[in-house]
Amino acid sequence: MTLIFATGNPNKVHEIMALVPQGTKVIGLKEVGIVEDIPEEEPTLEGNALAKARYVFEKTGMPCFADDTGLEVKALNGEPGVVSARYAGPEKDPEKNMDLLLENLSGTEDRSARFRTVIALVSGNGEWTFEGEVKGRISPTKRGEKGFGYDPIFVPEGETRSFAEMTLDEKNQMSHRARAFRKFKRFLEDHS
Ligand code: IMP
Repeated sequence: MTLIFATGNPNKVHEIMALVPQGTKVIGLKEVGIVEDIPEEEPTLEGNALAKARYVFEKTGMPCFADDTGLEVKALNGEPGVVSARYAGPEKDPEKNMDLLLENLSGTEDRSARFRTVIALVSGNGEWTFEGEVKGRISPTKRGEKGFGYDPIFVPEGETRSFAEMTLDEKNQMSHRARAFRKFKRFLEDHS
């Protein structure tokens, strides 16, 4: 079986290749000639992931999956959530995004937050979503050099280090994305 991963990020395609069951092949958008940006205008992570997967399925007729991730901060009513990438503006600058979040949370006692990933699969047989989350809190300052996005200010539950102070392997033990992909993998194993 061949699945299209609706992402323009080759690192993500590479990462998922190691996770899918034997006999399943994952290809990226370039390999099916889709080079345009797929719109992400839905108000929820589920909506965006489904919209991206549907877009590609409708264009190619091949089974397709897509993911969408957001950081949801309790004291900010779930913000930045679906706009995590462009919280501080369309330039998608992670430093500015973190600075804005820290500013919006200054003086707030409840710093609890979670990362949430939704993966949507769309094929001729139906549509499914798989969710992974990791709970934690927003640290008062940025810490660590590894990872990307909001990693320097996110400290997962039960940890004292931020995601940016962990190795990729350590982060993958507990990350939202890894949890969602593990559920997706189990589904593929059961249905292949
Ligand atoms: P995407 O849906 O995977 O593109 O993620 C949207 C945005 O969420 C990214 O641009 C990052 O700002 C943030 N994000 C997603 N995953 C992570 C993560 O594992 N660590 C830190 N930030 C993340």
